[in-house]
Amino acid sequence: MYEPEWKRPTSKAEALAVLGEIGEDAVVVAGGTDIAPLISKRRIRPRVLIDLGRIDDLRFLSVGPASRGGSAKIGALVTHGALARDRDVSEVAHVLAAACRTVGAPQVRARGTIGGNVANASPAADGAVALVALGASVVVESDGDERREIPLPEFFLGPGQTVLRPDELVTGITFAGPSSAARSAYRKAGQRNALAIAIVSVAVVHEPEAGTVRIALGSVAPTPVRATEAEGLFESGWRNASGRAELLRAVALAAAGAASPIDDIRASAWYRTVLVEVLTKRALEEVCFQSENT
Ligand SMILES: Cc1cc2nc3c(=O)[nH]c(=O)nc-3n(C[C@H](O)[C@H](O)[C@H](O)COP(=O)(O)OP(=O)(O)OC[C@H]3O[C@@H](n4cnc5c(N)ncnc54)[C@H](O)[C@@H]3O)c2cc1C
Repeated sequence: MYEPEWKRPTSKAEALAVLGEIGEDAVVVAGGTDIAPLISKRRIRPRVLIDLGRIDDLRFLSVGPASRGGSAKIGALVTHGALARDRDVSEVAHVLAAACRTVGAPQVRARGTIGGNVANASPAADGAVALVALGASVVVESDGDERREIPLPEFFLGPGQTVLRPDELVTGITFAGPSSAARSAYRKAGQRNALAIAIVSVAVVHEPEAGTVRIALGSVAPTPVRATEAEGLFESGWRNASGRAELLRAVALAAAGAASPIDDIRASAWYRTVLVEVLTKRALEEVCFQSENT
């Protein structure tokens, strides 16, 4: 019978020391919502499991006021439920709260953490897609005070793969924060409204004063991706106030060009590409026309 050895550190420092000592033979468990099914289906059999559940110093959540740039520091163990409920997150980084609200069901949101969402490296990870649009970095630490801040697009290597070393822990997420004038939106299409992994997701953060937009796409490439050509097109046309509806259509079409989806059991590549265009256009309309009216 499979009986892993459990380690239950009670502080970040202790967790880093245990991880540094055991390295590749250990797997970290945060909320367990991704890893527990893998273990029960016998897809992985780690010798040691490191349960992070007792580490309170990885549950910090600090989001500055939007009027001062709203910089954010989010501990790895903060759950989707906590992010979805937090007023400062909703105000400063609406897209993140909105994305977390779409994760699974209340039970999954109560256990699943943002650190686990990012470390699991699914191209469909809702929190990760929103964080890419926010220009966030992952904070990674190892024993001996080594600390790296890695921009999310550089953190992901492919489905389930990251640049994280076996002795490293994701300890938090940080981003500079949009301005108080910024508007953001999250759109997700799944096979049903709840408990659905995204067929396509789109996160948009618009800065009306700077005339910029960041567009991140989920479930259409091996990792969450930025639609940078579409962002450039937006920036070059935004100052022309008379042609904005047409501009948004063209930007949405360009965003579809950034997708390289595959056919799978949830949707065909063709359908996913169409969805990127439709959802991007809706998200852009929401943030652009909302900002013009406020
Ligand atoms: C029924 C169901 C529905 C779901 N629906 C959604 C959904 O709609 N959208 C979505 O995005 N996800 C969904 N998920 C997936 C999952 O809930 C999320 O990805 C969640 O955020 C994972 O976090 P966790 O704390 O449970 O991670 P865990 O399962 O504990 O860990 C996941 C992986 O990350 C590693 N890890 C965790 N924390 C750290 C850390 N701090 N440092 C280094 N490595 C770490 C683990 O070793 C493991 O490899 C669903 C899962 C279930 C079971």
